[in-house]
Amino acid sequence: MRTPLVVGNWKMHGSCAMARELCDGIVAARSQYDGVDVGVCPPYVLLPLVAETLRGSGVRWGAQDVSEQVSGAYTGEVSAAMLKEFGAELVIIGHSERRAMYGDTDALTVLKLRQAQASGLLPILCVGETLEERKADRTEQVVARQLDALLQQADAAALLERLVLAYEPVWAIGTGETATPAQAQAVHAFIRGRIGGSAAGALRILYGGSVKPGNASELFAMPDIDGGLIGGAALKSEDFVAICAAARGRLATA
Ligand code: PEP
Repeated sequence: MRTPLVVGNWKMHGSCAMARELCDGIVAARSQYDGVDVGVCPPYVLLPLVAETLRGSGVRWGAQDVSEQVSGAYTGEVSAAMLKEFGAELVIIGHSERRAMYGDTDALTVLKLRQAQASGLLPILCVGETLEERKADRTEQVVARQLDALLQQADAAALLERLVLAYEPVWAIGTGETATPAQAQAVHAFIRGRIGGSAAGALRILYGGSVKPGNASELFAMPDIDGGLIGGAALKSEDFVAICAAARGRLATA
């Protein structure tokens, strides 16, 4: 049984007022997404306010990145232990924007994932191909390379036990262009197949890339799509709640 999960990635958006209003809206609509795991990942500085506003609501929260280091002279970085001590549960790792703009390599994402797990955070590891790679028919090759950085670790089985994956085709992120349910399902099935064994059956794989209230239900109806990682539509509580509610459709089959 894989409990559906929907997580909002706020990226570098928001303010105190916006965070409070958004979280209040998500909490107030709780009955609409009963049974679905829901989380938000705001910018670091909004975490205290988000933690306070969500307290007791059951809505999870976390960060959009984490350091691969334990502690030390790493200006600008935040460690997994700090996030955990503060009460965070989630952390997004290897988002395509980090990979493309901040040098997060496959190897670095594994180090970050290790730190997150060692501190008791639940990492959401993102994989996905660019438009160029899709056009060159290299989607599976790219996703396999990103996954294999993890699967080739000696303790891969243990790493897979406390992990969520997110398939996010880069060409669909923030572009308004969504993978069709069939396109997304094909890659999700490929990912599950590559992982294999009982770990694959238990692992939640989210889809991300311009998920909106209008397309969420058809994406979440696919057998291997266990929920969503939501960018733009996570910034409006009605839209985010509608997407979380759409994931309830999976409960009958979860
Ligand atoms: C994301 O940034 O993870 C994302 C999926 O963004 P959007 O929903 O805006 O495409």
